[in-house]
Amino acid sequence: MNSFFSKIWVLFVVAIAVQPMYGQHLSAQKKVLKLMGSRFEITAVADNDTLAWAAINAGIAEVQRIENIISSWDPKSQTSKINRMAGLRPVAVDRELYDLVFRAKKISRLTGGAFDISFASMDRIWHFDGTMTEMPAPEKVAAARAKINWQNIILDPADHTVFLKEKGMKIGFGAIGKGYAANRAKAIMQNMKGMHGGVVNASGDLITWGKSADPNGWTVKIADPKEKGKVLGWLPVQDMAIVTSGDYERFVEFGGKRYAHIIDPRTGYPTTGIKSVTIVCPDTELADALATSVFVLGKKQGLELVNKMKGIECLIVTDDNDIVTSENLKLNYY
Ligand code: ADP
Ligand code: MG
Repeated sequence: MNSFFSKIWVLFVVAIAVQPMYGQHLSAQKKVLKLMGSRFEITAVADNDTLAWAAINAGIAEVQRIENIISSWDPKSQTSKINRMAGLRPVAVDRELYDLVFRAKKISRLTGGAFDISFASMDRIWHFDGTMTEMPAPEKVAAARAKINWQNIILDPADHTVFLKEKGMKIGFGAIGKGYAANRAKAIMQNMKGMHGGVVNASGDLITWGKSADPNGWTVKIADPKEKGKVLGWLPVQDMAIVTSGDYERFVEFGGKRYAHIIDPRTGYPTTGIKSVTIVCPDTELADALATSVFVLGKKQGLELVNKMKGIECLIVTDDNDIVTSENLKLNYY
């Protein structure tokens, strides 16, 4: 279920207080709306109300523009065209989409294939909307899984085409698209007239920049997974992205076991063992993709990967409410 009351209310409370600015007469405005099928919160701190709203509207337009390109549901999108032509022929796409696929493949390489946008061949098997009543047949899982392989996403830089080499392959940007959109909306808003700061929060994938309405700067509260409504601690997130992937929004349950909406490309089955992953780094797109990757890699390998990467931190909550963090994560406790 893609609930409008997103995960941030359920587990990771991301609370950014936007109060009227003192002294400087800046305006802080915020809009909550549904974009890309998710709850977005866009905040702008600007010279005045008019400029703040102009920035918010520009941010919204940018997210909608991106959604039109990367949506796998919209049959008119370039992504749908790539999928329809799987096994048939390469499809020439906008440079922007080509570059996104290029970066997605880079993350696949980095994560040893844990992250793979061609996971989407499993769409035919797993439905995380409450309609599944039993485990799918293993042969069906195996047949769809055989189509997952990021190395069969063929890119041609000369005419920026994308070709899915095998029939039945499919790509989807569910694990990177919101992060990319948040990056882009931020970039557009930041460069507008009279802007001082802001936040783009794509249902738990968020990025902040510049001046906050709060004298402490932008901070994000981390909810305690063990106790509903209790805050575990907080993180300063000035000019930072913080992204949480969780299994509490979309999942299926069989025999009391919960399966998250993230697929392990090695098995074709949803991942188990981790409840949520939070990544902190300067880039929402990378954070989004890595949060999903850590889910697949699991606690041990996921931490190893993050600890190897400079400037990237993470916090993992396991199924048994164990909390583990990367070496340099500085969570502040009250
Ligand atoms: P959230 O919806 O919690 O923000 P993520 O950012 O982790 O979740 O993205 C989950 C989505 O990513 C899934 O719904 C699916 O569209 C896609 N996905 C699932 N498994 C993988 C995978 N192994 N690699 C890349 N994308 C995936
Ligand atoms: Mg993700």
